[in-house]
Amino acid sequence: MVQRNDGERSSTCSDCGSPVEAGRDRGFSFGSDGVLCWACALRRGGSYDARRERWTRAPRVDDLLPRHEQERY
Ligand SMILES: [Zn+2]
Repeated sequence: MVQRNDGERSSTCSDCGSPVEAGRDRGFSFGSDGVLCWACALRRGGSYDARRERWTRAPRVDDLLPRHEQERY
């Protein structure tokens, strides 16, 4: 496992486990530190507006949230 330390925060998709690099990959972040990669976010019904650079419809992530976070959503 290669650890890069270039100042970019990177994490892994909560669904499929692929690396998602903040700032480079368009991912959907949710909860305290959850993130979905682009493919999983779309597959879960997310809709991204590239011109406004924001998600216009959030993907379903309720099955990925820890239980204490689910109660808040
Ligand atoms: Zn994924």
